[in-house]
Amino acid sequence: MERTFVMVKPDGVQRGLIGEIVSRFEARGLKLAGARLELLPEERVIEQYREHREKPFFPGLAAYIMSGPCFLMAWEGKGAVAVVRRMIGATNPAEAAPGSIRGDFALDIGRNVIHASDSPESAARELGIHFAPGELVDYKKIDESVIYE
Ligand code: UDP
Ligand code: MG
Repeated sequence: MERTFVMVKPDGVQRGLIGEIVSRFEARGLKLAGARLELLPEERVIEQYREHREKPFFPGLAAYIMSGPCFLMAWEGKGAVAVVRRMIGATNPAEAAPGSIRGDFALDIGRNVIHASDSPESAARELGIHFAPGELVDYKKIDESVIYE
């Protein structure tokens, strides 16, 4: 089983999309391992988006992410990192497939509602930035026998 880091960004929180987004991951069969609503401090925003630090859009991105609370989650399941990336859709919502979260709820690349880790390595790194060891919950979900063969 794999875990991935997912975050509803401030635009998604303000637009009341947390419930809809959580529902989609639950309905897919993924298991929630942890969640928290939080105003992110600048150090963790810089750390999360470290690869983009020198890009021209970085100051605007950091200001957007710190403009209000984010809803941080850890989701677990078979191939969770790639499955969730497909569910959130392309970075630019104008190109995101209908049926994906960005393809259904966003229009602008700078207000694309949700973040998800792009590889198992990023997932481990990002979960480590935002969740303390022991904060994520290990438990058995009773529907596993009908979700997995
Ligand atoms: N972003 C932006 N302008 C750009 C590229 C990216 O505002 O030209 C923002 C956007 O919010 C995106 C985030 O920076 O989600 C991180 O970019 P990345 O390429 O990692 O996309 P993601 O992994 O979120 O799909
Ligand atoms: Mg990315």
